[in-house]
Amino acid sequence: MRVGKPARRAPSDEDRAELPLVNDGDLDLTFIGSGGAFSKRFFQNNILVVKGSTHLLVDCGSRTPEALSLLGLSVGMIRNYLITHTHADHIGGLEEVMLVNRYSFKRKTTMIITDKLRKALWSMSLRGGAAFNEEHKGASLEFADFWDSLVPTRVRGGERELSETRLGELDILLFRTKHIPDSAPDWRSSFPSYGLILDRRILFTSDTRFDPEMVLGLDKAYRLEAIFHDCQFFKGGVHASLDELATLPVRIRRKTWLMHYGDKVEDFSAKIAKLEFAGLAEQWKTYSFKRIDN
Ligand SMILES: [Zn+2]
Ligand SMILES: [Zn+2]
Repeated sequence: MRVGKPARRAPSDEDRAELPLVNDGDLDLTFIGSGGAFSKRFFQNNILVVKGSTHLLVDCGSRTPEALSLLGLSVGMIRNYLITHTHADHIGGLEEVMLVNRYSFKRKTTMIITDKLRKALWSMSLRGGAAFNEEHKGASLEFADFWDSLVPTRVRGGERELSETRLGELDILLFRTKHIPDSAPDWRSSFPSYGLILDRRILFTSDTRFDPEMVLGLDKAYRLEAIFHDCQFFKGGVHASLDELATLPVRIRRKTWLMHYGDKVEDFSAKIAKLEFAGLAEQWKTYSFKRIDN
């Protein structure tokens, strides 16, 4: 059965003791953080997805290990990661993930990532902190010494670069977004950054500038149940602004939760309600979508 709106659940003391990594088969998205890159109130906009016995952390920012710890989790307990792009609020916690798993648990961890992004992530960001801690087979360490890559398969055809993969019970589509630089006219000319669609039901933009063709095109193709869209409270920069998102049709706004926002949410909450957005996605809340039995 499809549901129009997700049920929200505030974390109880029990959840805080240990946020579960398994559930009864619903599609659960929990915001480990919901804030923008420099937020001091809401941690960083990374989500934990759980469905049945499958779990996946989407992005792992510099403050995410701390946020996980407050929920009773640790980076060592997370076995599957998906990385959307290389800003520190999405990857800054990965060095801890790599070192803890290699030296404490002596194992690799799974990362869902495209070839294009993996090369940039390793050579431009992770290599400096991870490659030179030991000599391995007479050389420095490589990405594959820390990670088992799950590389999505490109879906041919269509306007926008799209790839798909499956992790346990979870179906994942990755599409390119228009995030950086701020001058790039479209996703093609942007540095690799990705949004995702979970189970062909839920859109999570991660970081993108306003791109109505993307939202409307994906909504048309997948008849989305809910959209989680990044939102900044000013114009310019590299995210969709509230004023730009306000121009989306009301049928879209009503199922759109705003995320990756700045600390001054109280100044904008009345405007967000007036525009009939679904609301602000809240840190540590679980957005649950009922399982569909075919
Ligand atoms: Zn970000
Ligand atoms: Zn970003």
